[in-house]
Amino acid sequence: MLKTEKFLLNEERLNSVRENYKRVLDQVRESAVKAGRSENDVRLMCVTKTVEPAYINAAIELGADLIGENRVQEYLGKKDELNLEGVERHLIGHLQTNKVRQIVGEVDMIESVSSLKLAKEISKVSLAKRLVTDCLIEVNIGKEESKSGIYIEELEQALCEIAPLGGIKIKGLMTIPPICENENEARRYFAEMRQYFIDIKAKKIDNVDMDILSMGMSGDFEAAVAEGSNIVRVGSAIFGARKYF
Ligand SMILES: *Cc1c(COP(=O)(O)O)cnc(C)c1O
Repeated sequence: MLKTEKFLLNEERLNSVRENYKRVLDQVRESAVKAGRSENDVRLMCVTKTVEPAYINAAIELGADLIGENRVQEYLGKKDELNLEGVERHLIGHLQTNKVRQIVGEVDMIESVSSLKLAKEISKVSLAKRLVTDCLIEVNIGKEESKSGIYIEELEQALCEIAPLGGIKIKGLMTIPPICENENEARRYFAEMRQYFIDIKAKKIDNVDMDILSMGMSGDFEAAVAEGSNIVRVGSAIFGARKYF
């Protein structure tokens, strides 16, 4: 039977997603071992923004157990087509306070808590829904105006204000470093993050867990793992270049 061209293309892409997923997972594990860590110390998140459900499900079939979505609307629109049993879902994109109501209870973690105002809204909505929402604080490590996130100098103060709020539990930190020329440059930002992560952890702030350090993407996850990341967020290296509509 002749397959249509479209079908062939889809099959090709499905296969490349499968190969990419396995390769990236191997690379993540190798980087962990190279850094003197256990190979299961680092979780691989598949970043699924703009990716159609069939390709996401292909990665899930191979064992992907953590997906990251950027946009509330996009995630809610496609989640019913995903085979999400046993899969953890994190929101990693910029979250506006007016979207909080829609996403609380729909994901397992919000990694992009970038302001006190947002944390307060997550707290309020979670309390109303009788939930506790696990969160990471997004740190703007390069102090870039184009990016959201809390500056390092304000981090401890912010944590102390968020910690007593009900309905929200801080589990660690997330960052997206500035676009770098090379991995060495990125690695300096990751090393800086690791140091802050350790410092904050040592302060043992009540009701704040410093367990998760989410950093590293397609182009720099090996450097991030070398500097202590335990969630790498990988999109294009698994699903291919993104097409925005
Ligand atoms: C898109 C995105 C990623 C993944 O980027 P790739 O370079 O495609 O791996 C990771 N983290 C965040 C917050 C993103 O928005």
